[in-house]
Parts: sequence; C-alpha cells; structure tokens
Amino acid sequence: MFDVTIIGAGLAGLTCAQQLHQAGYRVVVLEKSRGVGGRMATRRLDNTCADHGIPAVEARGKLLQQLIEQLSDRGILQLWTDTVNEFPTPHSSVTSVTQSPAKFPRYAAPMGITAVAKFLSTGLDIRLNQRVEEITATKEQNWHLTCDSPDELTTKALVIAIPAPQALMLLTPLAETGLSADFLNSLHSVKFNPCLSAIAGYPVQHQHDLESLKLSWKSLTILQDTDLAWIGIDSSKRPHAPSPVFVLHSTAAFAQRYLDTTDLKPAGQQMVSRAAQLLFPWLETPDWLQVHRWRYAFPKTPLNHNCLATTAPLPLVCCGDWCGGNLIESAMNSGLAGAVQVNSQLQQLSLPREYFWEVFSSRE
Ligand SMILES: Cc1cc2nc3c(=O)[nH]c(=O)nc-3n(C[C@H](O)[C@H](O)[C@H](O)COP(=O)(O)OP(=O)(O)OC[C@H]3O[C@@H](n4cnc5c(N)ncnc54)[C@H](O)[C@@H]3O)c2cc1C
Repeated sequence: MFDVTIIGAGLAGLTCAQQLHQAGYRVVVLEKSRGVGGRMATRRLDNTCADHGIPAVEARGKLLQQLIEQLSDRGILQLWTDTVNEFPTPHSSVTSVTQSPAKFPRYAAPMGITAVAKFLSTGLDIRLNQRVEEITATKEQNWHLTCDSPDELTTKALVIAIPAPQALMLLTPLAETGLSADFLNSLHSVKFNPCLSAIAGYPVQHQHDLESLKLSWKSLTILQDTDLAWIGIDSSKRPHAPSPVFVLHSTAAFAQRYLDTTDLKPAGQQMVSRAAQLLFPWLETPDWLQVHRWRYAFPKTPLNHNCLATTAPLPLVCCGDWCGGNLIESAMNSGLAGAVQVNSQLQQLSLPREYFWEVFSSRE
C-alpha cells in the first residue's frame, strides 16, 4: 500500500513526486512509456539522438531559472540559442529570416533533453511500462489501480499528472461512485492542439553544406504557414555532430488531418518537402525520416487554477501543464501545487522548499 500514487512521469508528475517523497510519504510513479519525461522526449537513433518534443528550455520564471543554473553547472544543459528567429511565409527566401535578441535564451541538452527529466527522477520509485487502465475506490477507502501489466496496486491518495483529456477518460467511470460533475466538467473544458514532429537525418556530406551556408539560426519559428510551425537543427546541440539532423514541428491544423492515420511517413515527407521549398533544396531528401504524433501537444484552453483537487470519493489531484498556463514552467508549478493539496489531504508533513533538487547536491 502506497501513501501516494502518481500517474505520469512528465515534469508535473516528477515535481509532485519529489516534493511528497522528500516530505516522507511512500510514493510510487506509474508511467506508460519506456522512459521518463513525457513530452520532454528524446529519441535514440543510430549514433545520435534527437528531441522530438520540447526542444530546449527557457528560464521564463524563477523555478526554471534555478533548475537551468543547476543543470548548466552539471554540464547537462548548455546555451543553445539567445536569439529569436522568425521566418515570415509566404513572401520568403532564406534571407527573409528576422532575428532579434531573445528575452529568454534557450538551453539544450547535448545528450538529449530527457536528461532534465532523468535528473528530476533522482531517488524516486518509478515503474515504467505501466499504463493505468482502470481506477476504482475500494470499500476500505483506498484507490485501487489496474495497469495493462499484471500489476495492481492500492494507494491512499492519487495524483493524475497526464493531459486532461486522458485524465477524463480514466475518471469518467468514477461519476457513479461520487466524483463530482464539476470536477469532470473542468477536465472536459480543457482542449489540446496536436502536433506532428518529423525527425530527418541527412547524409554526412550535407554537414559541410550546412556549415558553408553559415546560417544565423538553429531554431526557426515559421509564421503563418499552413504546414510548418517550427524548424530546428537538432544536431547543432551536439559538438562535432557528424551529419545534420533536423526536427520539424507541424502546425496544429496540419496534425489534425493525421489524427487517425497509421502510416505517418507521407505526412513527414510533406513536412520536409515544405522545409525544402522554404529553405534549401537538399532538405527534401533525408537519409532517414521518423515521425511522431503528439495527440495532446499544447493546451489550447488551460484552466485558471494550478491544479484540480477533491476528497470525494477519496483524495485525488489532477495536475499538468494545462493547469494555470501552457508551458513547462506551468507543469512544474502545477506539480508543486498538487503536492501541497495532497499533503493537506493526508498527514500535513513538512514539504521541502520549491527548489527540491538542492537536496540532490547535498547528498553528492
Ligand atoms: C513538439 C512539442 C514542442 C514543445 N515545445 C515547448 C517549448 O518550446 N517550451 C515549453 O515550455 N513547452 C513546450 N512544449 C510543452 C511541454 O513539453 C509540456 O508543457 C510539458 O512537458 C508537459 O509536462 P506534463 O508533465 O504536464 O505532461 P506530459 O509531459 O505529457 O507527461 C504526462 C506523462 O503521463 C504519461 N501517461 C499518460 N497516460 C498514462 C496512463 N494511463 N498511465 C501511465 N502513464 C500515463 C505519459 O506517457 C507522459 O509521460 C512542447 C511540447 C511538444 C509536444
């Protein structure tokens, strides 16, 4: 029996788990994927890797600022770009890129951005490959969770740190056992935009071509295009990368057309073809191409509160980037707020300061 079970090892779930674990609760995190991080995701590829979710982090608030400092000191994060680069379609050529100093410089992880989530996982009991499929309230007043593996577990309190539409699917059956309609309606009100990420690797000889282009950008926001929203040179995060790797993000409208498509390769090919039209022709023909669909990429209609909490039928908190904003800072702040709520529902122990990772340094 656990005090708290957290569903989802994204930044919200990990932040919440650390606070409660360090306060002294018996905490377990259940994650459906093979690794931690959620939308902070890195794909391992032949001899390299690429970030196909959030590409880099920015210090928009104090929390991220502090975390970036810690991780830069450890060599996990490095400054990637301190300019904002925008490409105004449709009247454009490579020379149309506009550049201005970034208010929030972007920090990338040469070993892959999931290194940040791995750092935040320090010391936690995380069970990977565990998709929670059913949640019920027992007569003994505990939560009972059923996963797609043979594992089942019981817990006093539950934190659901996954996108609201997925939380809604898990929680709807609890309407019959006392979960309020207001709670479910709040989840229902949160809508997400999808995004397709195409990861494209190019032949070694194009590394030289790329260098001779002397591009002034590594991360490029595409304005007003129907297909592409962003292009990043992912290989520029790694010193001495042997060949170019690009990551492209589609617009929400483009991704919407492929929500039920099984083979996403043609969509990825369309994205690189569009990038080739906009930038330089060799982008059309990558050596290899992988496509990932983010069904829930960006919250379109986030909630105003920083988490959702109830004690009926049992202690329950939902949190994530869709609470209070739509970026990773909101995900972490929502995880912190979720921990405060769970703590008030349980034993009211002393929670650590918000910069919980300082404890990791003191143990080293
Ligand atoms: C392409 C892309 C680009 C982005 N760019 C930026 C950016 O530039 N700046 C920025 O600030 N943010 C950006 N974001 C958003 C940022 O990644 C998210 O805001 C943040 O990572 C969300 O964290 P989270 O913990 O709320 O949710 P998630 O990261 O989605 O974590 C939820 C976790 O729950 C797991 N899960 C779901 N259902 C279950 C289940 N039933 N059982 C067990 N586990 C489950 C999932 O596998 C996942 O690991 C981007 C996102 C994408 C997709």
